[in-house]
Amino acid sequence: GLVDVPLVIEGLSKRYPGGVTAVDDLSFRVEAGQVLGLLGPNGAGKTTSLRMLMGLIQPSGGTIRVFGHKIYSGAPVLSRIGSFVEGAGFLPHLSGQANLELYWAATGRPPDKAHVEEALEIAGLGKAVHRRVRTYSQGMRQRLAIAQAMLGLPDLLVLDEPTNGLDPPQIHQMRAVLRRYASTGRTVVVSSHLLAEVEQTCDHVVVMHQGRLVASGKVEEIVGGSGEATFRVDRP
Ligand code: ATP
Repeated sequence: GLVDVPLVIEGLSKRYPGGVTAVDDLSFRVEAGQVLGLLGPNGAGKTTSLRMLMGLIQPSGGTIRVFGHKIYSGAPVLSRIGSFVEGAGFLPHLSGQANLELYWAATGRPPDKAHVEEALEIAGLGKAVHRRVRTYSQGMRQRLAIAQAMLGLPDLLVLDEPTNGLDPPQIHQMRAVLRRYASTGRTVVVSSHLLAEVEQTCDHVVVMHQGRLVASGKVEEIVGGSGEATFRVDRP
């Protein structure tokens, strides 16, 4: 039943004041252990969709269910979702580990070094945990922000364009991080406007254009073996 499925979205829509329909009747589901890419050009509605998933904005219609529980029903499902938005701030003079321990404490949970170490390990920062964040590269900072979202190993990890601004080697490392996370049986939803990136990082993809789903399925079904898209984003 639905209680076994990490994420089921049905008929989701968002109309902003002023009349923009940013998300229009979006439906898809994600199974445990999947890395799902939300792909589409700027303005397609990816960020709006993910912000509804993170519980930051209310949908105009439709439902989001996490293990069968509706978000916004008052059920504490949001605690099962970890999220990343660009530009998380860290204290540059403290180590990566100290930053995450502070963050963990700030969320009101009892100190837990094991969770922090686990998240840093998955994020590929095991060797840098004691270095000051000031000395981290952009890719390392972004992986530290992902580690922060992974604290406590949430069932569902929601990441909005985590590879923005990264170079290919850093993108490669980010991909390894998401794969490692999904291999623990948890689920990752990640947005991107780059087809090649989704192809390399994700096993499933939902393609959005102008707020609507235009294609979805396994990456190899949606993307041709040559790496060229087999779908058209400009709808008839
Ligand atoms: P990007 O990669 O540029 O963030 P996106 O696919 O994430 O694009 P959204 O940011 O969700 O797309 O935007 C979808 C549509 O909603 C766009 O037309 C955008 O202008 C509009 N929009 C987004 N946020 C708001 C807002 N707060 N108020 C009004 N319109 C908005």
